[in-house]
Amino acid sequence: MINKPISYGRQYISDEDIQAVVDTLKSDYLTCGPAIPAFEKAFSEYVHCKYAVAVNNATSALHLAAIALGVKPGDNVICTPMTFASSANCIRFCGGNVKFVDINPKTYLLDLDKLKETLESAPKGTYKGMVLVDFAGYPHNMEEYRKVADEYGMWILEDACHAPGAYFIDSTGEKVFCGSGKYSDITVFSFHPVKHITTGEGGMACTQNKEYYEKMALYRTHGITHDVDKLQRKDGLWYYEMQELGYNYRITDIQAALGTSQLKRARKNVEIRRELVRKYNEAFTDIEGIKTPYEADDVYHAYHLYIIQVEDRLGLYNYLRENKVYAQVLYYPLNLMPYYKQFGNKEGDLPIVEEYYKHCLALPMFPTLTEEQQEYVICKVKEFVSK
Ligand SMILES: *Cc1c(COP(=O)(O)O)cnc(C)c1O
Repeated sequence: MINKPISYGRQYISDEDIQAVVDTLKSDYLTCGPAIPAFEKAFSEYVHCKYAVAVNNATSALHLAAIALGVKPGDNVICTPMTFASSANCIRFCGGNVKFVDINPKTYLLDLDKLKETLESAPKGTYKGMVLVDFAGYPHNMEEYRKVADEYGMWILEDACHAPGAYFIDSTGEKVFCGSGKYSDITVFSFHPVKHITTGEGGMACTQNKEYYEKMALYRTHGITHDVDKLQRKDGLWYYEMQELGYNYRITDIQAALGTSQLKRARKNVEIRRELVRKYNEAFTDIEGIKTPYEADDVYHAYHLYIIQVEDRLGLYNYLRENKVYAQVLYYPLNLMPYYKQFGNKEGDLPIVEEYYKHCLALPMFPTLTEEQQEYVICKVKEFVSK
């Protein structure tokens, strides 16, 4: 019997995680101590990047990335409409304009052909960069996007909030992890409780580029530096300089300790998610009216979300809810949010994302979902669809 509602995602906190937090609370530092660089190091090893900047949430990480990439008022930046608001908002924080380009109907990622069409139809230099979101955990073939970006002199900001642990295989046969920065300039992750690993609230910006790294680190802490090599005047050891108008986007040591502990199970948990996907897919293969998610042979999808497409989405959503299964709809197209409509975006502009939105539903997907719970969810979905 299922007595507690099953949500679409939930955090997984172990006794070891709790101990790591308690240990930090008893230590000398609650913030700006050794747990933060330790977390940055562990995370950069996990995603194979050189530099990582831990911050208080991914929205801050996106903002820092947009600053480091040099987004200025009036700059035009391309963005996918199938994402959480922050992916585009970070461009607006810097005064840039967001141009939404439609998604691919199979992967739900920003469509490569439509991207090319958009770039070809504008004078060269119109667009400074693109924000690409590894939606649901599906990693872009970033090598292909990089070719296009290079042709037009654009940067790539990758929002991999859904995709730590995911990778694609490039033309050299290498596994390119989201965050490695082999093809994107900066990659951002979130540690909100519904994401793969959590720090309560938290985020990370990863890059191979030292300049971007230093800029993001500076802006994370008020634009203040203590680095004697960078100070403009000499004084005692107390002396620091505020060199830019930065922010306080710091994460705490308490959170970073939790993150490092969580990270130990991250790889295993992606495998568990993929096993849950295998079971869902198997259960739904022969069911008329359910489209299961696509995954190409050259990608390793991290499945932050398990999204099906169904004809009567509202009906299924309500039926599941009556039966204590809290499936979720992600996302309402960002270009159609009232805020973004003021810039001239309107219904009908991007038909594929609108079609996707009408039918999408994310079923429960998290590592502690039990076999009994998953079977119950499958049973309820089948009951509704066969009615
Ligand atoms: C969760 C999420 C964010 C924002 O993350 P926060 O840590 O809550 O600021 C940004 N982009 C995507 C794709 C997300 O899923």
